[in-house]
Amino acid sequence: MSTQTKALILFSGGQDSATCLAWALDKFDNVETLGFDYGQRHDIEMTCRKDVLESFKSEFPQWAEKIGRDHIVDLSALGAISETSLTREQEIKMNQAGLPDTFVPGRNLIFLNFAAAVGYRRGITALVAGMCEADFSGYPDCRKETLDAQMQAISLGMDKPFTLDTPLMHISKAGAWQLAERLGGAGLIDLIRVKTHTCYKGERGQLRDWGYGCGSCPACELRAKGWSEYAGL
Ligand code: ZN
Repeated sequence: MSTQTKALILFSGGQDSATCLAWALDKFDNVETLGFDYGQRHDIEMTCRKDVLESFKSEFPQWAEKIGRDHIVDLSALGAISETSLTREQEIKMNQAGLPDTFVPGRNLIFLNFAAAVGYRRGITALVAGMCEADFSGYPDCRKETLDAQMQAISLGMDKPFTLDTPLMHISKAGAWQLAERLGGAGLIDLIRVKTHTCYKGERGQLRDWGYGCGSCPACELRAKGWSEYAGL
């Protein structure tokens, strides 16, 4: 029996994965969520993640009944092997390849393998994730070619036809806000704006047009720029 009425989404609780969750709830009958705990510098990310998920359930009754089990996988080993700003207290800089040093090499490849393993055990072969080719950082593990190759390896290695939907792959950050509005109207825009967390520095002191954040780290700058384009500012 096809299990494609169910999906497993990589859900960090950020803007992109919250938009993808709405997309998945629109498309599938049942959506389970998967988060990774790998020694993030700020527990705020895990706290926001829980809050966003609860808000989806309380504010969108049509989606609440479709939201299935939430899974958290401890990937602290990833933090231990990574000398990055996500896992160490240091300033965010660009490295020689022009990537912000928040970059954990091949992180998304590792996430997808774990997602497929959890999906396998849950009888779910449809994965959903928020990778975005237009992402300012140009992470090579977000590229479509990389993901296609990995999904082929996963399907062969698990002897099941796994699929991966990446609804944000070819749209801009402004386009992501437009998608959220189409899926969940002003209520979803507000939820994402106020509850999701993007800032690399973990700041949530001041609510701005586009949400909370320091306003100056690369993640905040990208989020603010996308919001300005979306809002026509
Ligand atoms: Zn910031």
